[in-house]
Parts: sequence; structure tokens; C-alpha cells
Amino acid sequence: MSMGLIDDELQEVRKLCQHVITGSKLVSCVQTMVRVEISIMLLGIPSYLGTSHFHILELHTGSTIKANRRTTFKHIIVCIQFPSDYPSSPLLIELKSKTLSDKLLDGLTNVCEQEAKKILGKPQVLPVLKFIRNFIDENPLSCCYNEIATIKKNLSETDELKLKQKTSSLNLKISQGGYYFKTRILVPDNYPEHSISLEDVDTNFPPLFQRYFLGQSKEIARQCIESPIRPKAKNQPPFRPSPSLQPVVSFLVASVKQLPEENCQLCKKLCLPKDPKLAETNENADSHVERVYCSHLFHLQCLITYMKTPPFQGGKKCPKCGQQIFHDKWRVSEKVAEDRWAHQQARERELREVTEFLE
Ligand SMILES: [Zn+2]
Ligand SMILES: [Zn+2]
Repeated sequence: MSMGLIDDELQEVRKLCQHVITGSKLVSCVQTMVRVEISIMLLGIPSYLGTSHFHILELHTGSTIKANRRTTFKHIIVCIQFPSDYPSSPLLIELKSKTLSDKLLDGLTNVCEQEAKKILGKPQVLPVLKFIRNFIDENPLSCCYNEIATIKKNLSETDELKLKQKTSSLNLKISQGGYYFKTRILVPDNYPEHSISLEDVDTNFPPLFQRYFLGQSKEIARQCIESPIRPKAKNQPPFRPSPSLQPVVSFLVASVKQLPEENCQLCKKLCLPKDPKLAETNENADSHVERVYCSHLFHLQCLITYMKTPPFQGGKKCPKCGQQIFHDKWRVSEKVAEDRWAHQQARERELREVTEFLE
């Protein structure tokens, strides 16, 4: 091992590291170990500035400018050791992070080694650190590496998932039969503290379902980052935001795959036609599909008939799951339903009497 060579390199690293590698902090820089922490900082925006000052956030990302309200979202510790025949052999690199997954770190370690192998015989520390820093910058989706792996496993051949590292987003298209749901999912810089969001949604499901997909997705994402209103029991750990990408995508995949196959719980026919073009979009049409509180589907006309037909005692229940049927269109009490039924029966009787009289 060439001690003099390593000493020269260590000196160079001490002098340049913090200037050349943005967001880096040299913790130790000796023959036995070079330890560097690399962080990507985001400047907390004072709320009075509002969102119009978004550029401040970009300006200071990854910079070392001192700010009072700074939060670290991506943090990686690089431990480097010199092998006995350095620099003829590549550096020994170990990566640690609380925010990045082990699998990603394993992969990144391998790529770093490949990088070091390209410059055998020369100083490798700064080039490897630069490589890591660039990797974090150029792959913002690395913060959801495990989630993306799980999502990919659950997609079928007809689905599409494309990672767009440049814009920190994913293009997702889920298909089932003739139906599809397409969206661009944005992963914010301060993920998972802030949740993902769905943009550019395009689907051929009827509007009711589009509203359902978007409403539920928003709610699932919100629950990942906002603590529940009801305080938890005392012995439970405090609420911490959790990743929202995979929960939202899992919901979307399950719903898009399932809905076109679902039957009306009353007439037992498919709710959505095989051809999406034939799907009823008029929300007052008989064949319009309604979704009730328990999430089961009904044709509007089937549901109206069912809701208006006795028995009313104990409330109307979903024939599939036995849960009470709640729907915005039927905020009707048992008593009112009984009265309406009686009224309708009376009218029909009157009508029959009249027709019989005229015969
Ligand atoms: Zn039906
Ligand atoms: Zn049900």
C-alpha cells in the first residue's frame, strides 16, 4: 500500500470535499476510514410567504446555506476504507441511510464499486463521492425504491409503469378489459412527510367512478401523513408520516381490476358494460351504476325499486354483505319509507279502482 499516495489523497479530500460535494460533511478522514455524510436539505418556507415563493425552496435545495428551518429528507452516510493494494484495487465502500432502503443501498454500493474500478491507479474518493451525490440528485424516486418494487410485482402485463426521475414522477396506466385509468403520480421532495399527488388523470370509467378513484386516493394519502383526530392510547408511539405511494397505487389497481367484473347486487348482471363507450354517464338513467356505503354496486333503477319495497324494518340492507345501505340519494328514515310505501300502495289501489270503474 502506498501510504504517501493515500495521505496526499486524504489531504485533497479534507480541502475539497465540502466544496465539491454539495451537502456533504466530512466526519472522519484518516487512513483507516473516510466517513462522509451527504444530506439533501429543504428550506422550511415560513407560512406567511405562501406557496408563491416556491422558488426559494428550489434555490436552497442541497445548498449549504444556513437557515433556521431546515429539514433533511435524504441522508446518506458513506464509509470508505482503503484496500491493502490501493489504488490498484477499488475502494471498499459501505453505505448507510435511515431514509433509503437497504436494497437500494446494496445496488448503489455495487455501482460505486464499478465506478471506482474505472479509475484504478488514481485517487478514487472524491470521484466516488461525486458519483453518489449525483445519483441522489438524478434519482429523486430512490426514496420510494421499495414501494416501486412492490407495485411492479402487483401489475399485470397490460399495465404500464414508467419512472420519470427528471420530474420525480411516475406514469401509471392500469387496464382491465376495455377500461383504463391513467395518471401521473408526483413524488414531492419532502416525501414521505408530504404525500404523493395524482395529476393528469385520464380514464374511460364513468364520472362517478373517476370521482371515487380520486376521492379515495386523496383520502388514503392524507391518512398517511396526517395524524388521526382522535388521540391514540397513551402507550402508543406518536404518529409518524408514512409512505403514501404504494397504498394509493394498491387501491387504484385493486379497484380498476375489480369494478368492471362486478355485478349489480340485485339483478346480478354486470354493472359496467363490456364496451366502456356504452357505459351510462347520465346519473339519472335507470342503468346508471350507483355505489353505496358498503362499496357494492347497484343499477340506479334496481336500487330505487329495492329501497322502495318492504320490508323496511331494521333498514334496507345490502343483499351481498348485509350492511345497511347508505347513499346520499336515500337519506330516508324507516318511517318515511313505510309512509311512502303505504302512500304509493294507496295510489295504485285508487288507480286500479278507477281503471276498473272505467272498464
Ligand atoms: Zn341491477
Ligand atoms: Zn354490500
